[in-house]
Amino acid sequence: MELNEALALIRRVPDFPEPGVMFQDITPVLGDPAAFRTVIDAMAETLDGADVIVAIDARGFFFGAAVAYSLGLGVVPVRKVGKLPVVDGKASYSLEYGTAELEIPAGVIQPGQRVAVIDDVLATGGTAAAACELVELAKGEVAGITVLLEIGALGGRSRLVGRKLHTLLTV
Ligand code: AMP
Repeated sequence: MELNEALALIRRVPDFPEPGVMFQDITPVLGDPAAFRTVIDAMAETLDGADVIVAIDARGFFFGAAVAYSLGLGVVPVRKVGKLPVVDGKASYSLEYGTAELEIPAGVIQPGQRVAVIDDVLATGGTAAAACELVELAKGEVAGITVLLEIGALGGRSRLVGRKLHTLLTV
């Protein structure tokens, strides 16, 4: 399947989870075997010499784990607060809807490892920026950030200045 065909399966849902938010629903991509393989292969191609992948809670787990498996790498979850038993630290961030905190498991990333951060959607960029902060707190080196979709109008890119950002689609 062509990448643009796979990305066309992303469904836009207005006013979810709050009025005014245009939710980018990637579940049809996950559910379609050809589309899923196509986007995983395309995301994997953006990674240049990463040693390990950090996948962001929760939809980033699907993409991060599949990319890691396809490249023979390990995957480390960055999770919402209170889910991980042993953490290196936390970082707070604001979302298009609400605020939250993320945590990174202690001692899983090795110091100096080159880390690719993976998520489904880049909106305001707060989540990806917090994940990068946590990678650095764990003494990893952020090699780049790869997302399926970037919502250009929300300016998330400006929170990631100086970092390599790869997006398969910008809307
Ligand atoms: P942000 O921190 O604003 O860049 O938000 C990105 C995170 O929130 C990602 O983990 C997305 O899964 C989720 N997210 C934020 N806004 C949306 C949206 N409009 N559609 C789908 N997911 C979103």
